[in-house]
Amino acid sequence: MKSANISKSAARNLLQRDKGASSLRIGGFEPFSTVDYPGRLAAVIFCQGCPLRCGYCHNPDLIPARAAGPLSFEDILSVIDRRKDFLDAVVFSGGEPLAQAAVIQAMTAMRRRGFEIGLHTAGTNPALLEAALPLVDWVGFDVKAPFDGYRGVTGADAGAKARVSLETLVKSGVPYEVRTTIWPAWIGKAEICMMASMLREMGVRRYVLQEARMPDRNPYPGGEALNDAAFVSETAAMFDAFEVRYAS
Ligand code: SF4
Repeated sequence: MKSANISKSAARNLLQRDKGASSLRIGGFEPFSTVDYPGRLAAVIFCQGCPLRCGYCHNPDLIPARAAGPLSFEDILSVIDRRKDFLDAVVFSGGEPLAQAAVIQAMTAMRRRGFEIGLHTAGTNPALLEAALPLVDWVGFDVKAPFDGYRGVTGADAGAKARVSLETLVKSGVPYEVRTTIWPAWIGKAEICMMASMLREMGVRRYVLQEARMPDRNPYPGGEALNDAAFVSETAAMFDAFEVRYAS
């Protein structure tokens, strides 16, 4: 639960100070979510635009940077201000939230209202992640593939930037989970082993593997790695906290 009701004049002042956030392009909004920030009831802002092209992407409408979104930041503020007593946190998801510098002002606006801030990112913009981290309380960080193998999964050579971003996150002390979506077209046991070793060396303590889902929500065929109990348990032993999220 968050702060008490604010007066109309205080709300007007907040809106004035939130002006920089108005340029945030937003592709969607979920007013109540229990699954996007561990242990928190959160509103989720789906930021428009993503520099990656993951083959399993479920949100292709969010990829174009300039697509006209149905909602403005002010629309979302007005919904959130009405429901703030029921919300703990606001999560910036995407798309890729760090594709827009205005996300910093948007996070600041939400912090001013007393919310914890969650961030979902693939770490494609290390400088903006560094600027955002002091405003953020929890990060869900997607590692798409071994860092030298991003092109196959994402269509872009984004692994070097993702590595720098993850190093920055781990050093920052901000709570996080690192997760990898297992898309069998490119990610099998060998790649999972490589990623687990690489992440452990970087000091990652919490790792989640999640099955990629087809549009009908069933898992992609060929993903037997996550059904091999011995393999999963060996991987789990490399981390303080480990989880597999199955598609169904
Ligand atoms: S990072 Fe997310 S939004 Fe961007 S292409 Fe990949 S799955 Fe889609």
